[in-house]
Amino acid sequence: MKSTKKSHCSGNANTAIEKENSYADIIRAFSPVLSLKEAIIDSITAVEADGKVKFDEKIFGDGIPLLAQGNPLINNGEDVNDLSLKITSAIAEGFPIFAGEMENISQAIIKTTLRPQEYLAKYPKHDETAFATLASALSVSYEAIYLFFYFLTRIFLERKSRVLGSVIHDCEWDKGYCAICGGAPMLAKIKQEKHGQRWLVCSVCLHQWRFNRVVCPHCYSEGKEETNYIFINEEEHDSAFYCDKCKRYLVTLYRIAEFADSVPSDIHSIKLSYIDVIMQNKGYLPMATLPWNKFGAS
Ligand SMILES: [Zn+2]
Ligand SMILES: [Zn+2]
Repeated sequence: MKSTKKSHCSGNANTAIEKENSYADIIRAFSPVLSLKEAIIDSITAVEADGKVKFDEKIFGDGIPLLAQGNPLINNGEDVNDLSLKITSAIAEGFPIFAGEMENISQAIIKTTLRPQEYLAKYPKHDETAFATLASALSVSYEAIYLFFYFLTRIFLERKSRVLGSVIHDCEWDKGYCAICGGAPMLAKIKQEKHGQRWLVCSVCLHQWRFNRVVCPHCYSEGKEETNYIFINEEEHDSAFYCDKCKRYLVTLYRIAEFADSVPSDIHSIKLSYIDVIMQNKGYLPMATLPWNKFGAS
């Protein structure tokens, strides 16, 4: 490993055990809905692949992501009700505490008082207050409606990303947000191979793009590797990029081997959520808010 002066947190056995316990519980809870997501995306990607992609290279060069260029998230007339009901079941399975609320959401979908496709058709033109209004109309908590729409949207965004990713494959993109959907990064991977390039993983559609290793993806201020990375558990490459200008951090897999790429990014992100706790306790905010990285950060 490069002889960089590193800040270290504790890397002892107790930390490892605490870490093991915390992420195992979170993975168990999210496992049904994450498995459903994987299974469904594979089966619906073929449908989407027939769609026509709108891509204006000039406005893309100005930083406008593909989804903001008139590429709708769902196909015309696409029915998402069956899929929505599977999502509410999977969330209820992983989070028994939400079972009753997921049943309320399911009933609203069946009675068509809730039409998830209308939400997807408008994406990303929606506001958070709409969730609060909807939650109150369905007698469910904000958290329940957020979780439901989060995973519903993720499925279609990941599908879109798989199709649109090939369109922009050779295009340069130096922004700290996603070229496909405009989402913030949830994870960075510094690859052992490829001269230690940093790749950012989108928190919304999982698209990955290369980004300068010492520039902050949130505020673009340039720092130094020696002062912008904190190494939590060196053996496992667990670290975080942090920026003292905007007080944001990005969980980072530092110098991971290519084979580690086969682990789904969501799982990496959940496993590393103990770093979120550490960084948020130090007063930093995550670059992207995820269902598993909110520990009092606003
Ligand atoms: Zn994205
Ligand atoms: Zn910054």
